[in-house]
Amino acid sequence: MSEYKYADVGINLTDSTFKGEYYGKQHHADDTEHVIQRGVDLGCLKFMVTGTDLEESKKAIALAEGYPGRCYATVGVHPCQTESFDKHPGGPTVLLQELETLTVDAKGRGLATAFGEIGLDYDRLHFAGKEQQLKYFEAQLDIAVKVQLPLFLHSRAAGEDFERLLSARLPSLPRRGLVHSFTGTMEEMESLVALGLDIGVNGCSMKTEENLDVVKAIPLERLQIETDGPWCEMRASHASAKYKDDAQGLPKSVKKEKWTADSMVKGRNESATIVHVVHVIAKVKGISTAELCQAAWNNSIKMFGLGETSDQQRP
Ligand SMILES: [Zn+2]
Repeated sequence: MSEYKYADVGINLTDSTFKGEYYGKQHHADDTEHVIQRGVDLGCLKFMVTGTDLEESKKAIALAEGYPGRCYATVGVHPCQTESFDKHPGGPTVLLQELETLTVDAKGRGLATAFGEIGLDYDRLHFAGKEQQLKYFEAQLDIAVKVQLPLFLHSRAAGEDFERLLSARLPSLPRRGLVHSFTGTMEEMESLVALGLDIGVNGCSMKTEENLDVVKAIPLERLQIETDGPWCEMRASHASAKYKDDAQGLPKSVKKEKWTADSMVKGRNESATIVHVVHVIAKVKGISTAELCQAAWNNSIKMFGLGETSDQQRP
């Protein structure tokens, strides 16, 4: 067993690659169970599975049901999926209602621990235009207030709009939320922290020197850790690489064509790599892994619960 414990608060375990399917082609058996076990073996004891639309949220809840005390789900529609509101049979109002009903039920069963992934993505307007994104970010924030779950947020290049819509509702959301996969500037990080939000760091948050300066400055009591697998793998070309030299080894990884149940897959990130995310953040901040792990764990438990009790539970 690992001496540290980690919570991967952003893992897309419902992605088809964890069922062995890549770009529509089946390469190997479903290995979700092995992926989770590899994480657990390294001390990753909690997995918050990201829901990105109604169907994916249902799958995330079903997965959480299969791993009680281990996996939890988020429910929401990602900004890049907001076209699904108009495409939904019955239209946007029906989809919003279905999301709310699903969340209330899954929260009641202890399976849904956050509302999201919701937010704004102005880097990828080809998936959904600004108006569309704003309209359904706002409508979904209203659901989050009704169901009283902390937020799991996504923001890309939308600074002002993002903060404006959030600040109006945060007073009604005592557990606030997490801006996951943070890649913004120092100023953005500072204003999100000032709003009372936590910042989620993964491999994508540490690609450049500028990113690392931001990570260094995130207050320890506002930092949470994630992998965002199967995405956001840390690469040799990233600024983070120079801090990885003395990191502990990870399970071996092979090409998907050479898959075996006990190996990770090259190019498919998974929760076991949270160990390296933590290692690099600790180095960048100049603190011990133990101190970082403890802080991040406490922050995640305080905000999302994840089946644990925190003595400092936010009101
Ligand atoms: Zn995201």
